[in-house]
Amino acid sequence: MLTLISRADVYAPAPLGLCDVFIADGRIAAIASHIDPRGIDDCLQRIDADGAVLVPGLVDSLVHLSGGGGEGGFVSRTAPLLAEDALRAGVTTLIGALGTDDVTRSHADLLAHARALCAHGLSAYALSGSYRVPLCTVTGSLRDDLVLIADLIGVGEIAIADHRGSQPSAAELARIAADARVGGMLAGKAGTVLIHVGDGSEGLALLQQVCSQFEVPISQFLPTHINRSVGLLKQGVAWTRQGGNIDLTTSSSEQLVAAGDIPAAQALSILLAQGTDGSRIGMSSDAQASLPNFDRNGHLLGIDIAAIGSLLAAFASAVHEHAIPLSEALRTVTENPARFWGLARKGRIEVGADADLLLLDPATLQVQMTMASGRVWSWL
Ligand code: ZN
Repeated sequence: MLTLISRADVYAPAPLGLCDVFIADGRIAAIASHIDPRGIDDCLQRIDADGAVLVPGLVDSLVHLSGGGGEGGFVSRTAPLLAEDALRAGVTTLIGALGTDDVTRSHADLLAHARALCAHGLSAYALSGSYRVPLCTVTGSLRDDLVLIADLIGVGEIAIADHRGSQPSAAELARIAADARVGGMLAGKAGTVLIHVGDGSEGLALLQQVCSQFEVPISQFLPTHINRSVGLLKQGVAWTRQGGNIDLTTSSSEQLVAAGDIPAAQALSILLAQGTDGSRIGMSSDAQASLPNFDRNGHLLGIDIAAIGSLLAAFASAVHEHAIPLSEALRTVTENPARFWGLARKGRIEVGADADLLLLDPATLQVQMTMASGRVWSWL
């Protein structure tokens, strides 16, 4: 299949201006101010962007692909992600993880859901492990998981500073990071260790201890939920200054914001205003996680489900409400997470990259068209 997108305002994420983009066999084959398709008209799909914004498909570092939740009993388990929800939300690359529940949820089921999404043109991967330490794995060994199972690309989310975690020691986390690093090296993967940081006051202290006491590069870890509180955000700034990467969660509920969560777009604005290196910041949706609502006495009122659409909404909010330049906001949901996970053909519009693209309304930044592995879905 050959496709020509003409007259698009391209952000790669860097702004390239009005361009034509030629796609062949699921990859970007050419980008130029004008591409003449004469001679191949018969087998060409044409899309006139008419000045709409063309960006890479979003890369979401944390999605509970097979469903999540469960911390409020069986009734609080959430549903799996639907492919159409991801496509409509402009998310074309997804990293799937288990969470608290690694008893009724399994890696086999997680991988099956990831592969079903891939059948729709999405690029879905999964992580070994869960919140728990010692790790729950597929083969019995994290290193073997990463070397032998192609679509397991890292490990996590491992919980620290959280009453639902296993309260791992620094030595245990160092061993996990070392296994992820070596397994990743052997398989040509980043072997990133995704860390769920809970609301415990210690925050990133344990990770700091691991990096100071052991031969573990700080870049091996990706701590998420860093916009959980002002205090954790401050620790995140220090972490990036040491060369670490951080991840902000876009699916804050009203109740979480009332309890101290900082909406991701606002957190990004605060981080950039403080001079934080924008290449070290990513955002993820935590989609399909359960967001329980409690009344003042702690009784469960109901459960919301974290939405995958929150990723695009946070990007748009960063641009429209916090005046962050489009390319700067865009890289936190495309190029940066792709780099954190070692996905070389994702998150950028360049020759040779996968044809995962979004056409956005220039005024609202809403998705008009999603292209995933060269396949087109129009939402107009
Ligand atoms: Zn988490």
